[in-house]
Amino acid sequence: MRLPNPYREELAIVRRNVDTASAEINWPQIIDTARPWVTAVRDNPPPFWAMESLLKEYPISKPEGLALMRLAEALLRVPDSATAIALTADQLGRANFDGNGDGVMARLSNSVIALSKKTLPDAGHPPGLLGKLGAKTVVAGTLRAVQLLAKQFVLGQTIEEALAESKAQRRDANYLRFSFDMLGEGARTMEDANRYFASYEHAIRKIADAKLSTPNAGPEESDGISIKLSALHPRYEDAQHERVMKELEPRVWQLCERAAAAQINLTIDAEEVDRLELSLDVFEALLQQIQAKCPQWRGFGLALQAYQTRSLELIEQVGALARKYNVRLMCRLVKGAYWDSEIKRAQEMGMPAYPVFTHKHHSDSSYLACAVSLLKQKDVFFPQFATHNAGTIAAILQIAEKFDAPLELQRLHGMGSGVYRELLKSHPKQTLRVYAPVGSHGDLLAYLVRRLLENGANSSFVHQLADDDVPVETLLESPLHVTGTEQFPLPQNILGPRNNSMGVDLTVETMRAPLFAALQTTTIVRPVDASAAQSNEAMQSAHAAFASWRDVPVAERAAMLRLAADALQTDFPRFCALLVKEAFKTWSDAVAEVREAIDFLRYYANEAERVCAPIALPGPTGESNMLYPRGRGVWVCISPWNFPLAIFMGQVAAALVTGNSVVAKPAEQTPVVAHEAVKLLHAAGIPTSALQLVTGLGETVGATLVAHPAVAGVVFTGSTQVAKIIQRSLANKEGAIVPLIAETGGINAMLVDSTALPEHVVDAVVQSAFRSAGQRCSALRLLCLHEEIADKVIHMLNGAARELTVGDTSQLATDVGPLIDREAFVGISGHATRLGGAAPSAERSQKNLVAPQLFEVATIASVKQEIFGPILQVVRWTGDPHAVIDQINALGFGLTLGIQTRIDSRAASLAHRAHVGNIYINRNIIGAVVGVQPFGGEGLSGTGPKAGGPFYLSRFIGEQTVTINTVAAGGNVALLVA
Ligand code: NAD
Repeated sequence: MRLPNPYREELAIVRRNVDTASAEINWPQIIDTARPWVTAVRDNPPPFWAMESLLKEYPISKPEGLALMRLAEALLRVPDSATAIALTADQLGRANFDGNGDGVMARLSNSVIALSKKTLPDAGHPPGLLGKLGAKTVVAGTLRAVQLLAKQFVLGQTIEEALAESKAQRRDANYLRFSFDMLGEGARTMEDANRYFASYEHAIRKIADAKLSTPNAGPEESDGISIKLSALHPRYEDAQHERVMKELEPRVWQLCERAAAAQINLTIDAEEVDRLELSLDVFEALLQQIQAKCPQWRGFGLALQAYQTRSLELIEQVGALARKYNVRLMCRLVKGAYWDSEIKRAQEMGMPAYPVFTHKHHSDSSYLACAVSLLKQKDVFFPQFATHNAGTIAAILQIAEKFDAPLELQRLHGMGSGVYRELLKSHPKQTLRVYAPVGSHGDLLAYLVRRLLENGANSSFVHQLADDDVPVETLLESPLHVTGTEQFPLPQNILGPRNNSMGVDLTVETMRAPLFAALQTTTIVRPVDASAAQSNEAMQSAHAAFASWRDVPVAERAAMLRLAADALQTDFPRFCALLVKEAFKTWSDAVAEVREAIDFLRYYANEAERVCAPIALPGPTGESNMLYPRGRGVWVCISPWNFPLAIFMGQVAAALVTGNSVVAKPAEQTPVVAHEAVKLLHAAGIPTSALQLVTGLGETVGATLVAHPAVAGVVFTGSTQVAKIIQRSLANKEGAIVPLIAETGGINAMLVDSTALPEHVVDAVVQSAFRSAGQRCSALRLLCLHEEIADKVIHMLNGAARELTVGDTSQLATDVGPLIDREAFVGISGHATRLGGAAPSAERSQKNLVAPQLFEVATIASVKQEIFGPILQVVRWTGDPHAVIDQINALGFGLTLGIQTRIDSRAASLAHRAHVGNIYINRNIIGAVVGVQPFGGEGLSGTGPKAGGPFYLSRFIGEQTVTINTVAAGGNVALLVA
């Protein structure tokens, strides 16, 4: 690892940054420099079509701004008019564009949008003929507006167009340089990557051609290019390190060689935190090549993000590499464009801290500290400062003057032109580069708008500059101070009263090392199956233990669960290793599962204290009425192999904490994980008699337990078929009527309409259908694609599936591991062949490996059963999506459902119509989080209540009311003394 752990306490880092920057900066002077720029920009506001004006009139924080951006994000890619109308109606319907007669939108669209709401059909309902005609006009007008908007972001739709435009702009401003960027979504398939490569290569050639007139100009004086590594390889991920170095690095080198030959600037763009170490490895490999093959080239560089808490160390690292290979670099300092996704990711992964600064001014002060560091190292850096913030710009100029260091300033095409116009009046020699997106509007806009939504926050300088109500003093306030309070809670504290489980970022070497070490020392020794006699004995002794366990106060029982949760957190690596070894989990699945088990323990501990508290009931005077929730008796907990820790632990913890004794039978494939889980619970104080583990086959051991007369309840997770067997067995039994909680499988569908972004759909589908080799109850089985986009998405999905690594899950690079056993392999590969797939190779067959595959089928109704492996069936649909939901409902299952659409009202009405327990909109459909997405289905998918939800524990308790006639001994004292 080259850099420190990204998850470190923020404050200490901010203090250091503030000290570093303050030592070189005189802030009052900065205000003096920048104030005239700000005043002048405010006196001469940018033209109505500039991005700033748009943000001013329709700020993203208002419904109009959001509607506009969301239309811009999606409308251009919608191929069919019916969906385009529905999308436009939906977005315009929720905003008020009236009353802006001379506003930007009105001017852009000839008021068409303002008229739209009168003409458009209600969202989601097909319009009549007249309405349709009107609606088409509105959509055409909106499209025109969006196209105009696109022009603000995109310099040209082709590199030729962009070069011509740059030439035109240089006519009035010959100091301008451009960095062209064919940005867009990252590659999902090798075909995408090849296309991006060709377009970068072509662009470099064209930029080089255009530079022929000034052959002696260095990269500082010439236009250049920015490239995105995630566009050049479909698996630009840390876990695919070896592949990336082998396949991607030579490609990037080809681009570098061309840029070097032309003496232009080539910048590798910044990506997310989890790819930074990987980017540095690629970067170093390229430096090596440069040193060997074109040491005179001074145009190579990397974009550096100041919002990362590791930014200063990153600059040190990059500087050291430059010295090592004796290469002078052009490095762009940006604030960073993935801020909200980094925050979300850290929360989802339960990280100990955030990898980016949580306060805006902390990022700003980091930017200045980074500027100091870059400008001090002028031996290796020609820094390029990308910012629109007048205060930051003035500070950079001040520091640069102090160190007599050359530099370049950069702004985004369509932004910040006012500040730079003013600055150049006082600093006419300052070079300025425009970062200029190039590409078709349809491809680029979605990406750019998302970036803008991330950066268009009210706190941004651009936004505040446009807002006359923000005083100049506030706008130019020094960021060089530390705010000690958190802007929002740390990832561990986002779940309210309970701690979020801590996860592991597998891209961080020091975090993953203990897991790998645990694998080396973990062995799997399968216990001997229990006999029928042993099973009955377990039931009897659990029965005998029940009364005393029930009487343990709930607070003590809950405390034991919390203790077990902490112990599991401590023993995290070993449990991950067990899951990898016994259940063939991938590392990331193992991490998620151990976290889920911890979450169950903590959640049910809290819930039990709520649900098991006695309740005093109202009633007539002279009487006390109390309701006492309490354990019912012995619960039999039967769990599947696919979540051998989390589901096992969830069932057992719920039954125990509500005062029941438990006999637990794990799946026959995964007894060892269960055994270790039980040991952990016993060590946390649960009496061995109250929790008994019985391992063995379902048909024998499981059936014996269910049939035992002492059973007070059964909680089962597994197949629908076995749930029915258990249900019948319980029904046929003499004695008490026994409750059954059954969570079973599903034919889980995802409905995708033509407003969805294909790349995002592909991500969601690949994760939902193929992660865990499709062996999740929530996994996607049936993809329903709108006819208009089906070909494209299926093509991309096939390409993305091909890039998955199938194999041994102890390897970090593996995406899809083996099926759980031979029986599963035979069944799943049989299904694949029936659907038209090729038989697996002998080698794969030997290891029970089935590659992810998708098959088109004609109708939804033809999908009859859950195929519990990496097999996805795909159908096309047209017309009303509600009819698709009806067909999905008709299958009888109802576990998970995905909906992918940008039409919000459509998503809501489809969700409402679906008979499905867990619905996910515009994301994958797996990985329900305890207490966040309570999990469980309806119909053939289960009885409920949902695991990890507020109603779950109630099903485990018996209720007793006790009514006391308090006046039995005499008069009603309460009344008499009143
Ligand atoms: P399964 O039904 O074969 O086995 C589940 C458990 O039941 C095992 O412990 C097994 O030994 C036991 N069992 C089998 N026959 C029994 C019998 N006659 N009497 C008593 N117990 C018996 O399921 P599986 O293959 O382990 O798991 C995969 C299935 O589980 C899939 O259908 C999946 O969708 C479902 N599942 C559902 C959820 C959910 O939360 N809804 C979660 C995970 C798995």
